[in-house]
Amino acid sequence: MKYTPSAILLASLLLTNTLAAQEKYPKKKKNRCTVCEHDPELMEANKMNHGPFIFARTDSQKIMDDMVWSPVWMETQHYRLGGDFPKWKIPEVERKIYRAELTELQKKFPKIKPKTRTLDKWYRLHMLANRMEIFYSEARASFGCSPLEFLDESKNIRRGLGPFLGEKDKYEVMVFEETNLYREFMTLNWGLAYVKPQRWNNVDRDCLWFGLSLQQEEIKHDRKLQNIVLHGLSHNLLDGYMHYSFELPVWLTEGYAHWVERTNDPRFTTFCSVEGSLHEGKTLNDWRPEVRKLIKKDEAATFAALIRRASFAEINWEDHLVCWSKLDFLLQTKPKEFGEFLTELVSRRDSKGYPDGSKMDDAQRNGFKKHFDWTLNQAEKKWGEWALNTYPAK
Ligand SMILES: [Zn+2]
Repeated sequence: MKYTPSAILLASLLLTNTLAAQEKYPKKKKNRCTVCEHDPELMEANKMNHGPFIFARTDSQKIMDDMVWSPVWMETQHYRLGGDFPKWKIPEVERKIYRAELTELQKKFPKIKPKTRTLDKWYRLHMLANRMEIFYSEARASFGCSPLEFLDESKNIRRGLGPFLGEKDKYEVMVFEETNLYREFMTLNWGLAYVKPQRWNNVDRDCLWFGLSLQQEEIKHDRKLQNIVLHGLSHNLLDGYMHYSFELPVWLTEGYAHWVERTNDPRFTTFCSVEGSLHEGKTLNDWRPEVRKLIKKDEAATFAALIRRASFAEINWEDHLVCWSKLDFLLQTKPKEFGEFLTELVSRRDSKGYPDGSKMDDAQRNGFKKHFDWTLNQAEKKWGEWALNTYPAK
């Protein structure tokens, strides 16, 4: 991985500017955050700010100037997030969930009104950022990674890793309301006129980016946005773990992303297809009976078959369900072993010490034996029995 001196210089200059800008309150009250009021002490205490900051190819201010666009921005401990968050009226049935979430967040930001029935852009931004930070801790735990793992700077340098699970800079998320604006950003920044949700490896700063358009994905519901962001971040955090240097097995990464999304809210599902883009598939809230049927008919893809699938093109609708279930099984019954298995897989190095993604099927087979003490056939049997005993028939 190349990290040119000029890039480091640019990064540090921009960070210095950020610090200067943070000290100011926005002059106009209408631009002031309704959650933290841009209060420097409150922002500092909660390890967040509303920019400007370095982002994507340039920085948040330049993006707004170039595109004549006024999103809201937020930087937290592990993320930089920006975008449009249209006002959202909380549906009657969801009020309880949101009130509980807001009551919790009020402990950090006293100005929050937990009984509010409409979330403005600042509420939505702060709530999404909060959910993303919670997810970061959850993901790190699932990966079998200690919160202290990347805090030792000299150890990071020795291993050639950065502080963000192995990446050098924070994970980035961008949410556009309009498809056209999203396309314009994609063209300007990454040189691709894509409009589907996209993950991007920003090699200049060694960080992983994820973006989408609400209009394109027909996202109205706040939980649907939350789910699609968590799905994208599942991939990015997994990829970033011990540094993104080679591709992880597709069953593992897609299975994990589904597991995260479905654990958060099973009503909204995202499916990855080729080239890292995402698309929506059939709607089915409860996947468990469907997986049961596949096992009973002996039609579920086996571990032995799945470990060889190299691309999203080789994963059909039923495979998505099976991948999810296999992760559900491993994370629920063998969380510690799963973390060790995954950590070994992402940490592979060749004889010269370089990241090694070769012979991934052998590595997985050996990993199953070493960490779970199962051959792939044994793993298959264990999973099938567990799913039949655990999942409802209807
Ligand atoms: Zn705020």
